[in-house]
Amino acid sequence: MAGEPKDDCLFCKIVEGHVPATIVRETDTTVAFRDINPQAPTHVLVIPKAHYKDAAALATADPALAADLLREAQAVADEDKLESYRIVFNTGAGAGQTVFHTHAHVLGGRGMQWPPG
Ligand code: IMP
Repeated sequence: MAGEPKDDCLFCKIVEGHVPATIVRETDTTVAFRDINPQAPTHVLVIPKAHYKDAAALATADPALAADLLREAQAVADEDKLESYRIVFNTGAGAGQTVFHTHAHVLGGRGMQWPPG
């Protein structure tokens, strides 16, 4: 069923506490934790507790939960006092998505280039 945990999903395991993570925020519907391979001084992943494979699938199935995710991304940025930051949803392998459980990268604390690589 849509949103149900997947046995082979790394981020579902983090939600369930079966894989350790440095959690910075948690709500009823979301978890935010530090990326294991940070690309900026602040690099936090914000995920829904429910399993959806990417941002588009989440937005289609549960727009309110997608809004929760964006609110939490803002909260992470506020906590780290970021004046400007980037929220990234890699969507699909060709765009660099490697974990197929929706996650927003919140990146900040350094200058950023555009376009991204
Ligand atoms: P993607 O490439 O957009 O799918 O992002 C996946 C992110 O998950 C990458 O930035 C990885 O560094 C990060 N990552 C992978 N495994 C872990 C983990 O166990 N804890 C925290 N971050 C992880």
